[in-house]
Amino acid sequence: MNVTGLAGRPGFMARNAVARSAVGPRSSLPVPRVSPFSTSTSLSCVNHKPGSANPSDSETNRPGSLADKYSAGLRQNKDWAANTARDHPDLFPTLATGQQPQILWLGCSDSRCPETSMLGLQPGDVFVHRNIANILHPGDLSSGAVIEYAVKHLRVKHVVVCGHTSCGGVAAAMGNKELGILDPWLLPLRQVRERNLPLLQSLSPEEAALKLVELNVREGLSVVTQKSAVLNAIQERGLQVHGLIYDVGSGVLRELDIQETEESLRARLVAFKTDN
Ligand SMILES: [Zn+2]
Repeated sequence: MNVTGLAGRPGFMARNAVARSAVGPRSSLPVPRVSPFSTSTSLSCVNHKPGSANPSDSETNRPGSLADKYSAGLRQNKDWAANTARDHPDLFPTLATGQQPQILWLGCSDSRCPETSMLGLQPGDVFVHRNIANILHPGDLSSGAVIEYAVKHLRVKHVVVCGHTSCGGVAAAMGNKELGILDPWLLPLRQVRERNLPLLQSLSPEEAALKLVELNVREGLSVVTQKSAVLNAIQERGLQVHGLIYDVGSGVLRELDIQETEESLRARLVAFKTDN
């Protein structure tokens, strides 16, 4: 598809993206009054009303409250495990023996972007590295180790770099507010912004934020395909790399056109491929 057309698609508008904080729209939640390490939380509650919206902070923080997502999640885990075992009897016994994921997913930490759920896949299908704004620093040990392990040892078939609409990290990089530790983390995004400033300034704030999401995915793909393990896997066994943008407002993934010219691929192989 023509990726330059994405910015103009209504479904891909990052509503209020520029106004959001670096870590999302709910960054001002109060500190829970229960011990963060407590394991004695009661999971029982008799007053739960399914679907009741916007619980108060005091209700959310009450130990064992059904409005508290941690308590609810622990309780629901038992049902999930039982239902999954019933629907897929071989899944857990197979996973207990090891993993053979076909996909390496490099995405944003944003809570609205659960990769396995949005793909409709199961545990064991996706090997994952997520960080704020799905930024791939070339020298980052964490993402580098994940990529190398997934490609060389798990031998995944697909590597995905996925950005998303309304990304708080992208919104932060589009602004000029000091953010402490996030500033060095977001530096590659600001560098992409610098290199594409005339284009970004020609767009509306929403379109510019979405364009930076796309450019950041392309930058991440460039970093991934500068790694020798990835280049070797592309050449030797047809490893595929993909760029995606996830629309948090619709749940729909869009694939970017990342076709590379022969000349560009050849230059990449010459410059970055090393032998064992
Ligand atoms: Zn994000």
